Amino acid sequence: MESDEKDLLPLSALQHFAYCPRQFALIHLEQIWEENRFTAEGQILHERANSGETETRGDIHTARSLRLVSHTLGLTGIADVVEFHRHTQGTELPGRSGLWHPFPVEYKRGRSKADDWDRLQLCAQAICLEEMLGVEVSEGAIFYGKPRRREAVEINESLRDTTRELSMRMHAQWSERRTPPADYGPKCDRCSLKEHCFSASSTASNYLKRMLEP
Ligand code: SF4
Repeated sequence: MESDEKDLLPLSALQHFAYCPRQFALIHLEQIWEENRFTAEGQILHERANSGETETRGDIHTARSLRLVSHTLGLTGIADVVEFHRHTQGTELPGRSGLWHPFPVEYKRGRSKADDWDRLQLCAQAICLEEMLGVEVSEGAIFYGKPRRREAVEINESLRDTTRELSMRMHAQWSERRTPPADYGPKCDRCSLKEHCFSASSTASNYLKRMLEP
């Protein structure tokens, strides 16, 4: 798949789609967005990361709010932080001597999750960097707000395959302009669109029945 500029979707949409295809459709197709405690906390955590500042400490140059694009995934967006580590396998950077290897760092509120939602978004960023800079990106990290710590993420083949497959499914759903029906489950408790889903869907009563089942 090679996407034109006009067909590019936001990087953040991939995480929404992985979390729930209906959530992706509500936000990106129907333009519905509602704040809740989780989204507000996430915004605060991103403020520093998205400041646009750059800094160099020793052999690490840090770029913030870096625009990324992948035409094979059909995605574009802003990376919170990309560190460039001085490395013989790296790439040249404008105005800097030597070679630098990219290492994406995504900021997330809350804790590390068993599901791959966050890791998929990071993997998509890594693929963007590979296409843009022509170097392999085999590792990145996610900075979680609670506790405040980094989790290293290996950008392995399995994660890459899932990222590519999800991106293709997301683009297919986007082309059809389709909002799938609600598929209620525990994930809905953390979803900022829960109220909308509950009130908009005639299947809300089914959800209540399922939740009350022994
Ligand atoms: S409430 Fe549940 S089904 Fe509805 S968009 Fe959110 S996660 Fe998806």
